[in-house]
Amino acid sequence: MRKILFVVSGPSGVGKGTLVKGIVDSDPTIALSVSYTTRPPRKGERHGVEYFFVSREEFVQLEEENGFLEYDEHFGNLYGTPRKYVFDHMKRSSVILEIDVVGGLKVKEEVRKAGVPVILIMIVPPTLDSLEERILHRGAETPEQLRSRRERVNFELEKSDVYDYVIVNDDFDTALSQLKSIIETEQNKE
Ligand code: 5GP
Repeated sequence: MRKILFVVSGPSGVGKGTLVKGIVDSDPTIALSVSYTTRPPRKGERHGVEYFFVSREEFVQLEEENGFLEYDEHFGNLYGTPRKYVFDHMKRSSVILEIDVVGGLKVKEEVRKAGVPVILIMIVPPTLDSLEERILHRGAETPEQLRSRRERVNFELEKSDVYDYVIVNDDFDTALSQLKSIIETEQNKE
């Protein structure tokens, strides 16, 4: 069976986190990549589970040592995909990684250089309206925030043609079984 890095991307609010959780909960052979962050843990978050929580100095040091496949800053905190963690786990099994489209493309480039097979999977909403409805239900956003989010979603969706697979998350169970079958098919390819 091939060991593959599966990168799952898609606009925020599309439900990619729940789909990835559905995969790792039902298939213990697939490892979930755990990112590093400089943001402090929220209540209930554990070091090494949700994230590896590190200081800014530790993060920068690791970055200088080429320790990340990609990293980015969100809301003043740094987040990165650890190169060693991903490659160590891939000695034993496939790894699944949930990340935004920009990060996904960077990871693909880095991982390919190392000769490791990587499959990019994009999760999209059935319609843009349905995504906005979900986000509006989540909580209050200013019109300005909504507009910039809309631009971001369009940017991410435009990149879908460089992704290997696109899954429409209309019905959760259907989307999960499509994701499972992509993983199975790719792992079983010669
Ligand atoms: P949160 O602090 O709410 O857990 O995450 C904030 C943002 O950081 C989210 O948009 C999440 O997708 C992003 N993020 C989490 N881990 C990584 C990572 O390893 N790399 C990048 N580029 N973004 C990440």
